[in-house]
Amino acid sequence: MGFDTSGLLPLSDALQGMLEQLACCCDSEQLPLPQALGRILASNIASPLAVPPFDNSAMDGYAVRLADLAAGIPLIMAGKAFAGQPYQGEWPGGHCVRIMTGAPVPVGTDAVVMQEETQADGDRITFLAQPEPGQNIRRAGSDIDKGACVLQAGTRLTPREMPLLASLGIATVPVRRPLKVAIFSTGDELKPVGTPLAHGDIYDSNRYGVRAMLARLGCDCLDLGIIPDDPAQLRAAFIRADEEADVLITTGGVSVGEADFTKQLLDELGEIGFWKLAIKPGKPFAFGRLPRAWFFGLPGNPVSAMVTFDQLVQPALAKLAGQRFERPLQLQAVTTEPLKKSPGRLDFQRGILSQGPNGLEVRSTGSQDSAVFSSLSRANCYIILERERGRVATGETVTVEPFGGLLL
Ligand code: AMP
Ligand code: MG
Repeated sequence: MGFDTSGLLPLSDALQGMLEQLACCCDSEQLPLPQALGRILASNIASPLAVPPFDNSAMDGYAVRLADLAAGIPLIMAGKAFAGQPYQGEWPGGHCVRIMTGAPVPVGTDAVVMQEETQADGDRITFLAQPEPGQNIRRAGSDIDKGACVLQAGTRLTPREMPLLASLGIATVPVRRPLKVAIFSTGDELKPVGTPLAHGDIYDSNRYGVRAMLARLGCDCLDLGIIPDDPAQLRAAFIRADEEADVLITTGGVSVGEADFTKQLLDELGEIGFWKLAIKPGKPFAFGRLPRAWFFGLPGNPVSAMVTFDQLVQPALAKLAGQRFERPLQLQAVTTEPLKKSPGRLDFQRGILSQGPNGLEVRSTGSQDSAVFSSLSRANCYIILERERGRVATGETVTVEPFGGLLL
């Protein structure tokens, strides 16, 4: 008796269909390094230097020539080399040079012996072990060769890239301008936070979720507020968004019946497909083109809106913004309780992943109704249940996807 799911579009087909049509639409600009945090690199970065730029010591100790070392015979210290204050000139045979971590090794050095493997008697240094050639020397270019590509175009600059770029002396970087995204919520029942509710009203929560996710992605957001289910006002909002932004994201009004005039308007203004996706939550979804901007219509149910944004809109925005995008790693975990599921759609249940005595364990956050927001706020992962899978028993292995940067 299972319900007919033949008309539902698989997530992977929807994603592929969208990504094929999209290309980066953001120009590049050159920004000072500190201001480039969160931006997307517009071109590959080649290293202008070798890193490290010179052979240097990895330890505090003594620079030696192997030929000068004979068992038990001390060497006389010829001088000192500090980071930023190299030892200058030749050093006489039968001598060693005191050297600190990061200091350039004096010309002719074969190895650095760490201080703990020596005994000092004034300037006479005895070496307790025979060093290997090259020991404790960091060679010029051993981290990065001059000219090597250190970061690829499409990389989002995080705190991890900042010191890397600084170590290469790079003061400004070519980055994409942020993608400009207009958003609004649709629904006569919606009120903004900070205002009283009349009977039948609810607070508009989706816009706050969508705004927060756009902030995480580094997009510029044009928030057009709440638009009532009124054709004239919707039309004006669609036109304004199309004129001012690269992308419009709306929530609500894309399910069947109720949304008919949204559909009519969008058919008139652009080319929009209304899709029924084979995922749960998040069945209704709209995607297409307005005259200038791309359009994504998310379902009204708050959890559905978040999940479809994460799974579908995020990769699409990344492509438009010029970002290389990878989903968070998926892991396998064992369920500690049964999970409700009927075959027909790919489920993104919300779960709590933890380390158990025998490996990763996952449990549900409770009600998986797409209107229950606590199911998302208490979760730290998706439990991804395959389309044809049915009910899951305790102890079965399931795929989990820990929430990535978008939701953290
Ligand atoms: P719709 O897709 O417009 O039919 O909305 C589906 C459900 O989501 C309804 O219960 C709406 O009241 C609710 N909903 C729609 N938009 C929002 C929103 N922005 N915030 C919270 N709930 C919403
Ligand atoms: Mg509605």
